[in-house]
Amino acid sequence: MPHPRHRILSLGAGIQSSTLLALSANGVLPRVDYAIFADTGWEPAAVYRHLDRLEKEIAEPAGIPVLRVSSGNIRRDALDPEHRFASMPLYILNKDGNQGMTRRQCTGEYKIKPIKRQVRDILGYPYPARIPKGVFVEQWVGISTDEFHRAKDADVQYMHNRHPLIVDMNWSRTDCISYLTSLGLADTPKSSCLGCPFHGNAQWRNIRDNSPAEWADVVEFDKAIRNGNARANANGNRLLGEAYLHRSRVPLGEAPIDHVTAAEWAALQADSDTAQTNAEELELGVTDGCSPWACRGSEADTSQDDFGLAV
Ligand code: SF4
Repeated sequence: MPHPRHRILSLGAGIQSSTLLALSANGVLPRVDYAIFADTGWEPAAVYRHLDRLEKEIAEPAGIPVLRVSSGNIRRDALDPEHRFASMPLYILNKDGNQGMTRRQCTGEYKIKPIKRQVRDILGYPYPARIPKGVFVEQWVGISTDEFHRAKDADVQYMHNRHPLIVDMNWSRTDCISYLTSLGLADTPKSSCLGCPFHGNAQWRNIRDNSPAEWADVVEFDKAIRNGNARANANGNRLLGEAYLHRSRVPLGEAPIDHVTAAEWAALQADSDTAQTNAEELELGVTDGCSPWACRGSEADTSQDDFGLAV
């Protein structure tokens, strides 16, 4: 079996990947050569503060470089008519009252693409050079035992995913939180874009109640994308319905984030098998925010830049 040229960590800066960084830095797991953080430009301030701490207090003393990579600023790009925009998974209300969602392209564009570009550079084969067979990195992905079904391989042969929390540690999310707490990192935030439509009500409330400036920012963004992204509108490729950040398809500032509405409750009851999951997602959002290699958004097609509706 050929050996990986490098061992890298995909650092989302959430609970699981922060745990992997600390386990590696503290010698419990082998040392990674690099930790790569894909910055969408619109993470909550708490995530950037946490990332700074991880870098200074954990990575630097262990000699692990933290590489911050980016494809742009997702918020700015959505509102810039000059900029191609890979769409976020927005909730759509069509004129006839039907509901839909826009394609999820953002994870591929803003997280996976810059990481792949950086890995190619590390390997010495910048895009579009062909990477010889057998040349690859081992990429650690922070997925714990409670979400093992999300563990997947990368879609390119020059990156082989490994999931040490499952295969080496047998750790759940709770184990990770205990470990981080023992290191003084109990306040590790959920990492995802500030205005990610995958947020559950608890995350929206957290922003509203604890960070008024960030709440004003997401409410303003929600208003600004009501008719779709700026580039699509400038090109006459208008959205047929209206777009919203909250699943209720109500303007975020008025959305029912403090309680479950009658309509949501009815929808939850309609399918009892998935009711529990849906109820959790409504409140808590997608588990661990948006991990580049496990987020639902990572299945997105990155070749389109329109606002076509998912069917
Ligand atoms: S956190 Fe949400 S908005 Fe940001 S890249 Fe991931 S899916 Fe897209």
